[in-house]
Amino acid sequence: MTYRAPVKDMMFVLEHVAGLGEIADIESFAHAENDLVEGLLSECGRFCSEVIAPTNADGDEHGSIAKDGVVVTPPSFKGAYDQYVQSGWGALQFPEQFGGGNFPTAVAIAAKEMITAANMAFSLCPLLTTGAVVDLLEHGDDYLQQTFLPKMISGEWSGTMNLSEPQAGSDVGALTTKALPNDDGTYTISGTKIWITWGEHDLAENICHLVLARLPDAPVGTKGISLFLVPKYLVDDDGSLGERNGVEVVSTEHKLGIHASPTCVMEYDKATAYIVGQPNQGMRQMFTMMNDARLGVGVQGLAIADRAYQMAVDYALERRQGLAPGDEDAENGQSRIVAHPDVRRMLLTMKSQIEAMRALTYRNAAAIDFAHFSPDESKAEYERKMADLLTPLSKAWGTDLGVELTSLAIQIYGGMGYVEETGVAQHWRDSRIAPIYEGTNGIQAMDLLGRKLPMDGGAFVKGFIGDMRDLAAELDDPAFGQMGAQLAKALDTTDEAIAWLTANRTDFAASFGGATPFLRIFATVTAAYFMAIGAKAAKAKIDAGDADPFYADKLVTARFYAANILPTVNGLLDAVTAGADDLYGIDADRLQSV
Ligand SMILES: Cc1cc2nc3c(=O)[nH]c(=O)nc-3n(C[C@H](O)[C@H](O)[C@H](O)COP(=O)(O)OP(=O)(O)OC[C@H]3O[C@@H](n4cnc5c(N)ncnc54)[C@H](O)[C@@H]3O)c2cc1C
Repeated sequence: MTYRAPVKDMMFVLEHVAGLGEIADIESFAHAENDLVEGLLSECGRFCSEVIAPTNADGDEHGSIAKDGVVVTPPSFKGAYDQYVQSGWGALQFPEQFGGGNFPTAVAIAAKEMITAANMAFSLCPLLTTGAVVDLLEHGDDYLQQTFLPKMISGEWSGTMNLSEPQAGSDVGALTTKALPNDDGTYTISGTKIWITWGEHDLAENICHLVLARLPDAPVGTKGISLFLVPKYLVDDDGSLGERNGVEVVSTEHKLGIHASPTCVMEYDKATAYIVGQPNQGMRQMFTMMNDARLGVGVQGLAIADRAYQMAVDYALERRQGLAPGDEDAENGQSRIVAHPDVRRMLLTMKSQIEAMRALTYRNAAAIDFAHFSPDESKAEYERKMADLLTPLSKAWGTDLGVELTSLAIQIYGGMGYVEETGVAQHWRDSRIAPIYEGTNGIQAMDLLGRKLPMDGGAFVKGFIGDMRDLAAELDDPAFGQMGAQLAKALDTTDEAIAWLTANRTDFAASFGGATPFLRIFATVTAAYFMAIGAKAAKAKIDAGDADPFYADKLVTARFYAANILPTVNGLLDAVTAGADDLYGIDADRLQSV
């Protein structure tokens, strides 16, 4: 089964939740009108279904493997990547001056969703390139921008992100890769990086590595890290590829999923490097890339859940087992499994949360657009904070749901989901990395608690909760089912959780011990709010006489989410406020089974 791009739902969310119309009011995005964006996304969807999606199983089977200093990608990849470059999808969100399409991030995120759903392992190459471009656009000097951006934006050259070392995973400040200044203003980098996604491959002509390293006498920890660009091939003055640089792949990892995405050990042996931004500011600069990548990774959860959902629905419409209550379509006493209440529950659990994730992540992308480009400074400032608040939710909640919902798709298939032949198991295996990389979900929860809740002394989040309460009060029509009441109740839970976390903020073991269940509460509620905005828009369409069943379906999924998903947050309050006594009640050495 191929991938069907959900362009109609994407457009609905862009228009009614993300605020595409308001984004198009910004002068530089004036061309991003609904019709044009819809045409663009439809074309991108066709490309993803016809060109990228067919490479997914091939990639899983063959993998990308390092041999003698090169990485060989699966047979179908090179042709698909060349078409990706020719079609220009990688350039969508970047400035025209470097060959980009100058579209908003909110539009580019929909394209990212489709490429990821078509083939997550493949999509990581463009995702890392995009992150590197975002970083160079913000922090690169004129030489770096002119030399590298046009080819990276087109996709002819790819990008990577090099943080991890054996002793430096979440603890990036522990990295030891060294950078020595040269007389000509360049630097020389030596060290080993591990787990570098698409660190070496045969798809692009050049690979531009963004590498974190330490200058001599740099302060310890994250304050002493600088960011460098290390191209695989040095670039001559006329822009052509020059000498091979001192960076090589040593090996690739054998992994649970994303087999076609080469996860590389990279050796930097006196490689020539260019500094990006200022010395010892590397962590801050890398955060520019990480925030973009974190939203992109959150969208991986959405994309892969939707791909698995599409397969699960198709299967449920064909497979016959047992007799469902009141089923008139039964054949030989067997109903299609879609008719069984428990299968419906699983399908609606998937569909409603996929729509909720789309609402959250697209609104997150729109916040980035407004933050960067709104001419209204107070709006830009508000949206910068909104983007900061939503990013850990998109990343952690989106990717946790990616794993949960792809697992549910396997459950819908029954035994045929567990055997590899149907292909649905691949999505679950692929999805499992997303809660780990780009800052583990535990680190995201701590970020929400430690950096985002305290914004403006807590006033920003308080104001946002006020907005959510206002909307909940407006949802008093039967068309919204329990949405208004459940949203209000879940917001009470959220307020109680925040009050406890704030009161216990100096007891780090207790408050950070509750961070993960708190993120789940906050993300589930926030997504409900964005979903409710969509539900209101759907109802307005129906009230205006629009008979498209799409709008009635939107109300159903919103009501299902309100009745079945949203109330789960109330049960998490006790986990947030339980404190650390029992977390640390058993001596660490006695945690081992006896
Ligand atoms: C397939 C794959 C691709 C990757 N791609 C890249 C890449 O392109 N570039 C790159 O630089 N890296 C990459 N990574 C590395 C990835 O970012 C790290 O795996 C991740 O940051 C976690 O680090 P770690 O694996 O060392 O786990 P650890 O940091 O050892 O964490 C182990 C556990 O401890 C928890 N933990 C750690 N510290 C804390 C803390 N302070 N508080 C609370 N809990 C904590 C974590 O949440 C986790 O549950 C990739 C990894 C994989 C597997």
